[in-house]
Amino acid sequence: MATLVPELNPPSRLLLGPGPSMVSPRVLRAMSVPLLGHLDPAFLGIMNDVQQQLREVFRTKNPFTIAISGTGSAGMEAALVNLVEPGDTALVCVNGVFSTRMADIVERCGGKLVKLETPWGQVTDLARIEEALKKNAPVKVVAVVHAETSTGAQQPIEGLGKLCHQHGALLVVDTVTSLGGVPVEVDGWEADAVYSGTQKCLSCPPGLAPLTLSPRALEAVKGRKSKCRSWYLDAGMIADYWAEGKRAYHHTAPISMVYALRESLRIVLEEGLEARFERHRRHSAALMAGVATLGCAPQAQAGHRLASLNCIQVPAGVEEAPIRKAVLLENGIEIGGGLGPLAGKVWRIGLMGESSRQENVLAVLAALEQQLKKAGRPVRLGAAGAAALEAYAG
Ligand SMILES: *Cc1c(COP(=O)(O)O)cnc(C)c1O
Repeated sequence: MATLVPELNPPSRLLLGPGPSMVSPRVLRAMSVPLLGHLDPAFLGIMNDVQQQLREVFRTKNPFTIAISGTGSAGMEAALVNLVEPGDTALVCVNGVFSTRMADIVERCGGKLVKLETPWGQVTDLARIEEALKKNAPVKVVAVVHAETSTGAQQPIEGLGKLCHQHGALLVVDTVTSLGGVPVEVDGWEADAVYSGTQKCLSCPPGLAPLTLSPRALEAVKGRKSKCRSWYLDAGMIADYWAEGKRAYHHTAPISMVYALRESLRIVLEEGLEARFERHRRHSAALMAGVATLGCAPQAQAGHRLASLNCIQVPAGVEEAPIRKAVLLENGIEIGGGLGPLAGKVWRIGLMGESSRQENVLAVLAALEQQLKKAGRPVRLGAAGAAALEAYAG
């Protein structure tokens, strides 16, 4: 007889890593309601609700505002594979893992990649982008990461859309770790393709990638000389699937994920975007005040630190991985380690969506104190929490 695996019973964890973030019970309940067929008129209404709410959260009027079936990386791939044709020049501002991934996708699309590199943790200067646009003209696409989850840096986007358009280029922005936690202004930025993921500041399980395309981007899609190299992510076909009145079968939408996203967006809009941004700022500031007492300096450039993802340097002489492992297994809290050149050097503490709360800030500070003290560091227990509480009071 085959041995049955035991019933699913994962340990309870506080998710304060780079994603997924904590999910509201309301979203989990939405995922457990009965399925509809994906072309059922009732489901079409649910898709409309998702689109309408996504436009509010993205702050855009773009009719093409949908959720790609796939995680954040599918959103990235969808944006690039539709806009970059073989031979097109794409300028990617590279300063972390996710912008490096964008550069990789540009090459897979057959694009002519121009990398504009900046040290990890710093942001790209608009003047350098302008210079690169002139030097490499004509540039078809400029791609940037708004919230670089691997370094904790927040790229300023204001003025970039206009600059790109002056040079005949389209602007692609990754907002996977900012949408719903840090201000995202698709129309205000004049951005052409902006994507995100559900499992970060939207506090929904991983599985969908919100994507919005400007009329200018759609024109570029329509004017392609060659077929989109991805069948699954072909924006033209997906547009017909999501377009009201058409809803032509393309693939079967992940019904329960669409339910979940609908509910998580309801939660975001109920709280209000401005209140939500302020909450993310407040808890990040308190966390950073706390970790400073532990000797952890921020990795990202001053003035450009992300509130949703706090990337901090591991104090000199401390082994990174064992502390993170103890925080997970003994304290039940997930935090992230460093990627690429930052491996072993930083911790990444996500305070995204549902995870961005005072009790979580205090819990992770206490856990870090406890584990650093065990590892022989001169830690005064309670000092980090006290510093955080002072920040809340001030
Ligand atoms: C997480 C992340 C992605 C990729 O999302 P997945 O859901 O892991 O596919 C892309 N860009 C950024 C900035 C991210 O943080």
